[in-house]
Amino acid sequence: MTANARERVAEAIEQMPLVDHHVHGMLADPLAEADLLDAMVQASHVEDRAAVFDSQFGFAVRRWCAPALGLEPFADAAEYLAARSELGFDEATSRLLRASGITTYLIDGGHAPERLVPDERMMRLADARSHPIVRLETLAEGAMSGASSGADFLDRLEGALTAASERAVGYKTVAAYRTGLALEPARPTAAEVGGAADAWFAAGDPRLTDATVIRHLAWWALEQGSVLQVHVGFGDGDLRLDRADPFLLQPFLAATQHAGGRVVLLHCYPFVREAGMLAHLYPHVHLDAGLALGQVGANADVVLRETLDLTPFSKLLFSTDAWGAPERVLVGAAAWRNAATDVLADYVDRHGWPADEAIRIAELMAWRNAEALYGRHFVTP
Ligand SMILES: [Zn+2]
Repeated sequence: MTANARERVAEAIEQMPLVDHHVHGMLADPLAEADLLDAMVQASHVEDRAAVFDSQFGFAVRRWCAPALGLEPFADAAEYLAARSELGFDEATSRLLRASGITTYLIDGGHAPERLVPDERMMRLADARSHPIVRLETLAEGAMSGASSGADFLDRLEGALTAASERAVGYKTVAAYRTGLALEPARPTAAEVGGAADAWFAAGDPRLTDATVIRHLAWWALEQGSVLQVHVGFGDGDLRLDRADPFLLQPFLAATQHAGGRVVLLHCYPFVREAGMLAHLYPHVHLDAGLALGQVGANADVVLRETLDLTPFSKLLFSTDAWGAPERVLVGAAAWRNAATDVLADYVDRHGWPADEAIRIAELMAWRNAEALYGRHFVTP
């Protein structure tokens, strides 16, 4: 390909607005360095700066976030953290978020909300807009916390789901963390749900780990005609990785394909190809490789290329899955732009794809597919 065609693809992707269809809130100030370092990676209790900065993610921060803070690219960790605290929380957060070019965020507020800035403040700093994704397990745990019996829990849950449906643009399940993805396929009967609610109430556990209740929630979301985001693959340390393989979800996906809703497999790393097969096979299955793209940094092109193996291009979405640290938002966006440019320019260069078509596919991933999926709720960009 001529340098011109590659430049055209690169420039178009650089300018493209992004819809981050799966992200979380940012840690509130005052922000301790240890908390920031923890939030940058999936581990907790990170001991030292080198553990974060001498990694793919750390090099990505130095490459893309340092310039956003007014430093040279690849400024070292000490310079970076000093500049960050000198700028102050609002200014540093705002610069990092705005440099991402993300115009719309769909925020899952279900993880540690008490530690995060309110969405409205984050959006002021980002100069962007947001819509809520409701995490079903968190909603159910809220309903159980005030319940006086299993039956009372189900009443409260119904009220909470109705209220959520008035504001949510979609739902999320962390079944992978709780029961694993090997969900029984059939919709549970009312008697089964009642029995499971009684058993959960009797156990007195504040955490929802009952597979029948989780399956009930997942079916509810899909029968609403909504989008159900499903955590797949890589996550935090409390995830059982052997239960997070998307192939475990295949019977559930087969059973729900005509339920009315759509499923998005989130993250998917390292099961990106497996997830692509499922998106290929089932009409209601979509996916993203958020989280992984930012964390693998300079190797993001490999991951993105694999998502493009079998996934229909109309079913691939962009997300950062950032939680806590705005660096993850910017790195997620920059890693995606960089990888999408490398991969799509290569298709133009070596496989003769028209540059306009490569740009069109990038735009599908950047925001058009998200708009088509969630779009009755918002218009972008
Ligand atoms: Zn997430």
